[in-house]
Amino acid sequence: MFHSLGLSIISIMLSVLCIFLAVSTCCNSGSHSRLRASVPIPNKAQPLVRFNVNGKLKIVQFADLHYGEAPDTDWGPAADIKSRRVIEDALQWENPDFVIFTGDQVTGELMYPNGTDYIHILLTPFVEKGYRWASVYGNHDIGPNLTRLEILQAEQSYGDLCYTKQVRTDLPGVTNYFIPIYAAENDTIEEEQPVMIWWFFDSQGGRNQFGQQPHYIDQNVVEWFRNESQRLRSEWGMLPSLVFFHIPPQEYVTIQDNVLTNQLCDGLLDDDVTPQDNNTGIMEALSEAGGVKTIFVGHDHGNAWCCFYKDIEVCYNRHTGYGGYGTWTRGVRVIDLDIRNLENRTNYVRLETGEVVDNFPRKNVSLRT
Ligand SMILES: [Zn+2]
Repeated sequence: MFHSLGLSIISIMLSVLCIFLAVSTCCNSGSHSRLRASVPIPNKAQPLVRFNVNGKLKIVQFADLHYGEAPDTDWGPAADIKSRRVIEDALQWENPDFVIFTGDQVTGELMYPNGTDYIHILLTPFVEKGYRWASVYGNHDIGPNLTRLEILQAEQSYGDLCYTKQVRTDLPGVTNYFIPIYAAENDTIEEEQPVMIWWFFDSQGGRNQFGQQPHYIDQNVVEWFRNESQRLRSEWGMLPSLVFFHIPPQEYVTIQDNVLTNQLCDGLLDDDVTPQDNNTGIMEALSEAGGVKTIFVGHDHGNAWCCFYKDIEVCYNRHTGYGGYGTWTRGVRVIDLDIRNLENRTNYVRLETGEVVDNFPRKNVSLRT
């Protein structure tokens, strides 16, 4: 009897449990569907990047901001406050149409958990004023508590303002992608084609919990660029393009030797070139693809020269932020594009003092054709 009573108790308990599970499943699914209904509709196309109605498009390149360095010291947070002043002044003086970050946005190896907080802090002045941006990551952006993917997710939380992407998860690095650039909107054109392409590569690097990471643009990325640029060329024809990544390729060492002797080259030359560890052929690929006009890098904070590799302009940007090594005057590089004359681009450095320096190509010099 006790035995059958025990069984009855167990069966009652099982029934109660079943009813409880059924109710909780029902309620959970209800709350999920309510949640789902409030999420924005996915796959909404992001607005294209276009020249304005006057045919102009101005980019400001911010390099090596190094936010979040040494957060438990006095000087670390003080540096971030100064970096924000540099950013706000540059935005006010230049009012760009588009912003590009060329790596080392933060000093990730010194981050505590929640390192992405600093991504949000550095993006705040851009988000507040509605500036759109795209970025590549540098060797200092990661650390034991911060991954490239976490940074990407933090950036992408700003929706349409962020154009940073990872187009192929099987490629080493994250920020390997391109943005097609269009003329101002025109109702009379039915099948619109871009007028320009901006390429972004991840030169990787840095140290995380697994140790030192590869410090170069992977050869699979170079191969992807070769194939993709050929595909775009067959679809859209040869388009002028700009290229952005963080660590200079090895060719920059030789190019730096030419800066002082080539009268067409100009800018700040006060730092060593510390190039990518491997030469995976990115410069050759860029040169052979055709259409590549200018390459912009950061990484070596005291270099801000522009010179040439074959027919391609190659430019460094000095550091913009107060984190990271060096005491060179901070600055941003301004790339002023005119759709009527994409063959002849100009760029210059706007220093934190407000002074404009290093116009490139140099004025009053007859350029080679
Ligand atoms: Zn740096």
